[in-house]
Amino acid sequence: MTTIPAFNPPTRILMGPGPSGANPRVTRAMGAPLLGHLDPEFLKIMDNCRDMLRQVMRTANDVTLATPGTGTSGMEAAVMNLVQPGDKVVCGICGYFGDRIAQMAERAGGIVTRVQAPWGSPTDVAGIEKACREVGNVSLVTMVHAETSTGVQSDVPAVSKVAKAAGALLLVDCVTSLGGVPVEPDLWGADAVYSGTQKCLSAPPGVSPITLSAAAWARVKAREVPSNTWYLDMQLLEAYWGPARAYHHTAPISMIYALHEALALVLEEGLEARWARHERNGRALQSGLEGLGLVLHADAGYRLPVLTTVRIPEGVNDVEVRGALLKRHNIEVGGGLGDLKGKVWRVGLMGESSTPGNVLLFLSSLGKLLREQGFSADVRSALDAAATGLAAN
Ligand SMILES: *Cc1c(COP(=O)(O)O)cnc(C)c1O
Repeated sequence: MTTIPAFNPPTRILMGPGPSGANPRVTRAMGAPLLGHLDPEFLKIMDNCRDMLRQVMRTANDVTLATPGTGTSGMEAAVMNLVQPGDKVVCGICGYFGDRIAQMAERAGGIVTRVQAPWGSPTDVAGIEKACREVGNVSLVTMVHAETSTGVQSDVPAVSKVAKAAGALLLVDCVTSLGGVPVEPDLWGADAVYSGTQKCLSAPPGVSPITLSAAAWARVKAREVPSNTWYLDMQLLEAYWGPARAYHHTAPISMIYALHEALALVLEEGLEARWARHERNGRALQSGLEGLGLVLHADAGYRLPVLTTVRIPEGVNDVEVRGALLKRHNIEVGGGLGDLKGKVWRVGLMGESSTPGNVLLFLSSLGKLLREQGFSADVRSALDAAATGLAAN
């Protein structure tokens, strides 16, 4: 007989860059009986998901579905289907994820121009305009709405205007923004928008909502060579999600259940109320961190409420503090990525994790650990500033 070690994952407070905490209704849904991926009852659930996705993504686009796989699958589906070999692509980059898009566009055979902004500043709109002019005949402009590596929110309407003027389609990564801050593909004029389940939608990682405008869909259908991803081929995916119901892959049944409940929770809360909750809690956290005596990393005016980057003070040990937060306080936060490794912490307040209680608990826990590290954090002033923000409306 074999004794298998106990399976007992602890209940953490997930305040990193994702996954966020899931509502019990979402995790419970995953325990519902499995259905076949072509069972009429399952197809009804898919149709409901589609309807709810259109509402949560604020779009009337026909082609709106969820790709199998985490947020990166939505990114790959968008890029690989829209970029053909030889296409000119201008990529707005202000952090780690913007560059991931550029790498994919290169793999798709695109001729990529990277427009870099400092890690902490928003997407460089004027730089994109200049690049479009210099490169000429640009077919796609890409950007990240909410850059999770830096905590910065970029101006999508401004980039959209530039892309439209250049005759290019616009791809926007909304993995961290959807369900936390306003995402408006139709208003923006964005042609490809994708997200993920484990950030502000507060479901486990596993599927990726994506929507394509009529112009993007026409581009996909007019491809001269098929996309070099079979699994994430949007035409094959749409043939399964749409009326044809043609088998393409075995849908991740339990994840579709989770998506269904996560979207229902968003709509029951109401998008505006949900955005306001994220805004209030995020700003309270940011006031609290400044109250502790810390410095926020992202440019003022462009700070995301759902993901805050805060600089690690001189003399404080990054790994020790994050380790103690996890072991002693049960709180997960993220370290810096890429250029910001060892320089910032990334604190998420996404979906279910965005609560006043988490804001106050995190500030007091971090304050205590900073004092142990020799940094004279002013915990009283931090909690006072946060509580004032939480009470504001
Ligand atoms: C998390 C994230 C991704 C990737 O999503 P995964 O679920 O990790 O595959 C892409 N873009 C942004 C902006 C993200 O925050």
